Amino acid sequence: MLKRLELAGFKSFAKKTTLDFKSRITAIVGPNGSGKSNTAEAFRFCLGEQSMKSMRGKRGEDLIWSGSTEITRAPRASVKVVFDNLSAGEAGGKVFDVDFDEVSIEREVGRDGVNTYSVNGSPVRLKDVVEMLGRAHIGASGHHIISQGEADRILNSNIKERKEMIEDALGLKVYQYKKEESQRKLEKTAQNIKEVESLRREIAPHLRFLKKQVEKVEKAEELRVRLSGFYREYLKREQVYIEEQNKEIEVNKKPVSERLHELEREMLEAREVLSNSSKKDEKSEKLIEIEGRIEKVRGGRDLVGREAGKIEGEESANQRSIEKIKIEQSREEQKTVLLQEVEDLEREVSKISQISDILEKLRSFIAKHKEKRDQKNLDELTKLGEELRNKRVEIENKIKSLDNELANLNTEYQTIKNSIEKEKDSSREAEKNIFKISSEQSELRARLNIIESEEKRMRLLEEDWKREIQEGGVLLSTVILEFKDLKIENLNENREEQENRRRELEKMKIRLEELGGGAESMEVMKEYKETTERDAFLERELEDLKKSAEALEVLIRELSEKLDVEFKDGVDKINRAFKEFFSLMFGGGNAELKIENSKLKIQDPDEIGQERPEVGLDIIVSLPRKRIKGLEMLSGGERALTSIALIFAMSQVNPPPFIILDETDAALDEANSKKYGDMIESLSKYSQLILITHNRETMSRAGIIYGVTMGRDGQSRLLSIAFDEAVAVAK
Ligand code: ATP
Repeated sequence: MLKRLELAGFKSFAKKTTLDFKSRITAIVGPNGSGKSNTAEAFRFCLGEQSMKSMRGKRGEDLIWSGSTEITRAPRASVKVVFDNLSAGEAGGKVFDVDFDEVSIEREVGRDGVNTYSVNGSPVRLKDVVEMLGRAHIGASGHHIISQGEADRILNSNIKERKEMIEDALGLKVYQYKKEESQRKLEKTAQNIKEVESLRREIAPHLRFLKKQVEKVEKAEELRVRLSGFYREYLKREQVYIEEQNKEIEVNKKPVSERLHELEREMLEAREVLSNSSKKDEKSEKLIEIEGRIEKVRGGRDLVGREAGKIEGEESANQRSIEKIKIEQSREEQKTVLLQEVEDLEREVSKISQISDILEKLRSFIAKHKEKRDQKNLDELTKLGEELRNKRVEIENKIKSLDNELANLNTEYQTIKNSIEKEKDSSREAEKNIFKISSEQSELRARLNIIESEEKRMRLLEEDWKREIQEGGVLLSTVILEFKDLKIENLNENREEQENRRRELEKMKIRLEELGGGAESMEVMKEYKETTERDAFLERELEDLKKSAEALEVLIRELSEKLDVEFKDGVDKINRAFKEFFSLMFGGGNAELKIENSKLKIQDPDEIGQERPEVGLDIIVSLPRKRIKGLEMLSGGERALTSIALIFAMSQVNPPPFIILDETDAALDEANSKKYGDMIESLSKYSQLILITHNRETMSRAGIIYGVTMGRDGQSRLLSIAFDEAVAVAK
């Protein structure tokens, strides 16, 4: 139940003014322009009205007390509507579904145009207020607040607007909101679906491309694995082959090169022998020289031998002479000296004093008287004999030495001669050897050449093999080195097999290179994975979106059905009340709301030119005793009565907590005013009524009457007055 309205700074209510609604029917009376309609607008304002027009303003500021010569303008306007939450009219129960006995809704607007809302003092959003009111049948269409001159608004509106008002009155707005919200969500979802689908479409060719790339990468990987095994086998076989061949070469080469070494040595020896024999001439010359020397020595010996014979002859002749002289000498031993000579000697000696000189004199005297000539010969001969003997000895010595020399020369001669003989034999042997050796050498060298060329071939093969390992490493990484531990059966195959293998290996390498790989393929795999994941994510999202779209469609369908059913049901109920009120007002006749399916042109730019079936409400009236069927043909009073009948019917079917009627009764004559008064009374059982009126009859039905006056200061003042006073004030 509506408890009170508090205004402060709102329009002509400069000061805080409170209207209590203790009665089911409250009348607000007063002279024109005193501020009565401002109270109805205060309700609209507080309950979230967004149309400035329906509050007779242009801007928020127009709603704030603008001041007068006596009272300064207000900084803001605020209106509070307070409900007793525990008593919702005859139907009982709560007005709002909240845990408060009293609910106050307040709206404030400042001069900056900023609006604030609060419920029980707590700030809320407009949306919260609208939802809360919607649930309490106090909808935004304002069917329960009929402004001045707006009673026939429901008659003037088009069938669609009318339908909305009826829906609002039937409390279907909540479903309508839900439906609209779901439709918005559905649209958004459809949009999202479109976007996701287009994203997937965008990805698709790239994904197909990546898939092909990945297949290529996988093929390459497969080939790589196959190649890796194949490669290792090849390398292992090659290694074994090279090792075995090298071993064989070594075995073959060793005796040959050893024998060659031996032969070289032998050759050297033979050569040595040969070169020695070439000194033969030298020796022969020596031999001739010795022969010459022997001849010469022999000649010398003969000469010396002849001289020796001559000396020997002279010696014996000399000997014979000596012996002859010696015989003669022995006959001359008794020889005599003359006295005279002795006396001469005595005189000569007496003159000499020196003994030694005397002796000398004596000796020469004797020698003078000795056989002079013979002695002299003998001495000479002896001397000669001596000389000859010496000479002979000398020559004999000479002969001896010459004989020695000859013997030596002969020995030397023989030695050389022997050696010459011997050398002649060995050089012949050596020549034979050299021939033999060189023929063996050339045979062995030929063999060695073959072995060495094989060796060279092996070296090349080994280099190839090493290069192959490196290449394999580059192509397949270090796994290639595992060939070392590989065990291979059937090693004794034809070499051709390995060559075939090599050709196959080359082919595989080329194929692998064509397929590409390495870092690039890692990148492809990564991108493929990411793109697939993204696509899968989008697919899941699409599924989710489709599911939620389906759920929304179901919800919308259900809501539409519910709305449809409840709407029809509600319209039926309204029609029953409408007919009743109408015939009550007009004393007969008929009126009804008719559901119309019209085709409205769609304004949506996407669907322009198309038509969509639109449900609306038409009003059909037939006045008693008159052939009037169309609303257009009704008089002003008749229109007022019809709309009052409809408003009352609507309010009765789904009663709002309160209804404000601003001079709805203005056009009624006395008789109709009475009927109006009756209807008000019956309506007040369901909804609280606030009636702004000048009508005496209406005033008489009110429990409380507020008089609104406006003094010279331009502000509206409120006073609770009695019926009689009200009648006076209203005038
Ligand atoms: P009637 O019986 O003729 O319908 P009423 O009693 O309903 O008149 P209202 O229309 O409620 O009168 O009040 C209009 C009065 O309110 C005018 O005098 C107008 O000057 C005053 N008014 C409107 N807005 C403001 C405002 N912002 N500040 C001050 N006064 C205002």
